[in-house]
Amino acid sequence: MRSSEATRIYFDRAADCLDLSAGIRRQLLGAKREVQVQIPVELDSGEMATYVGYRVQHNDARGPMKGGLRYHPQVDLDEVRALAALMTWKTAVVNLPYGGAKGGIALDPTKLSRRELERVTRRFVDAIHDLFGPDVDIPAPDMGTTAEVMAWIMNQYDKYHGFSPACVTGKPIDYHGIPGREEATGRGVGALTLKLLSRLGRRIPGTRVAIQGFGNVGTHTAKFLHDAECTIVAVSDADGGFQRPEGLDVLACLRHAREHGGRLAGFTGGDALTNAELLAIDCDVLIPAALGGVLTKANAATVKAPIVVEAANAPIEADADAIFDERGIVVAPDILVNAGGVTASYFEWVQNRQHYQWGVARVYQELDRVLGEAFEQVWQLSTSRKVPLRTAAYMLGVGRVARATILGGTA
Ligand code: GLU
Repeated sequence: MRSSEATRIYFDRAADCLDLSAGIRRQLLGAKREVQVQIPVELDSGEMATYVGYRVQHNDARGPMKGGLRYHPQVDLDEVRALAALMTWKTAVVNLPYGGAKGGIALDPTKLSRRELERVTRRFVDAIHDLFGPDVDIPAPDMGTTAEVMAWIMNQYDKYHGFSPACVTGKPIDYHGIPGREEATGRGVGALTLKLLSRLGRRIPGTRVAIQGFGNVGTHTAKFLHDAECTIVAVSDADGGFQRPEGLDVLACLRHAREHGGRLAGFTGGDALTNAELLAIDCDVLIPAALGGVLTKANAATVKAPIVVEAANAPIEADADAIFDERGIVVAPDILVNAGGVTASYFEWVQNRQHYQWGVARVYQELDRVLGEAFEQVWQLSTSRKVPLRTAAYMLGVGRVARATILGGTA
C-alpha cells in the first residue's frame, strides 16, 4: 500500500466521526504546494551527481507549515506527501500554531562525505529558499539529517534573507539551537508510554520494552524508559540487534553505539537477534522507532506485545493496524507519541524570534505539559467515543484543522 493511502484511511475514519463535508475533506486532503527540484552537485572525486529533493507543504490553516527534512534512499514524492499530512495532524493534536510540511532528498547519507552532504544541503536551499522561512515553512531534522545539516540550512538561507535563525529548527545548541531539542522526541515517547501504562493500570517498574531503531529517537527513548525502571529486553538498528530477557545494560548499549559510529554490531551484553525477531519478541511494549511500514499484515499476527508505541512515523501499515485492533493490542499513534520533537522545535522557533533563551528546565517543563495535555485529550476522546487512540488523535487533529479552515473563511 502506498504511504499516502494509509494516512488517507485514518483521515477518512476521523472525518466520518466528525461529520465533515465533502468540500472540507477535499481541501484538507490535498497539499497546498508540492515542490520537486533537481540538485546537481560536485562529489569529492570531481564527478557530478544529481539528486532529487522534495518539499511538500501540506496545510497552513493553523499557522506556518512545519516538518522535518529526510535524507534516505527510499525518499519519494508519495512518502513525503504522506509524512507532510501527518505533520499537519500532529501539530494540531498537540495544539501548536503550525501547519504541516515535510521534505526529503533521495540519497544515502552514509555514502556521502560530510563536505558532499554540506554541498547537497546548500544547493537544495538555493533551489527552494524563496519557498520556506520563519512565517511560511520551517524545516527540522528527520531520518538521516542532523543538527549540523540544520546549521548549513540556516547559514545558506541567511545569505539570501539576512539573519533568520527561526527559518529552521533542530540547530546545534552553539548555533542558535536550544538545549532539550535533541532528546525531545525520545523523551516525549518515553513520557507518554509511562502515561499510557498508568492509564491501562499497569505497573511501570519492570515493564518489558523492545525498541527497534537506535538512532536519535530510539536511544533517547531507551534511556528515558531505563531511568523509569522499565526493563529494556531488546534493541536493534538497521543491521539487527541484541536481546536479554532480564534486561540489557542500556548505558553499555549507548556507550557501544557511541564508540562504534552509532552501530550496535559487536555488542557483547546480549544475544543477537534480527529485526523480524525483535518485532515478534515476548514483551509488554513494542516500540518501532526507525523506518515506516515495518509492521504489515504479513507480520502483525506474530506480535506478542499488548502495547505498540509508534515512535517512528507510520511504522504500522493500515492492514496491520486493523489486525492489532481486532486482537485488542493498544496502539499509541505517531501523531501523538512522537510529537515531542516538533513541540521542542516550536520552543526553539519561539526563542529564536524573541532572542531570549529559556534554559533546559523550562523546555522540559513545557514539553511535558504540552504532551501531557494532548495525551489526556486523546485518551478522553477515545474513552467517550469508544474509538482506538489513533482515531481519537485524528479526530482531535483533523477537527482543529477543519475548524481553523472554516473560521478563516473562503471569500
Ligand atoms: N521530524 C520530526 C517529526 O516527524 C520533527 C519535525 C519538526 O521538528 O518540525 O515530527
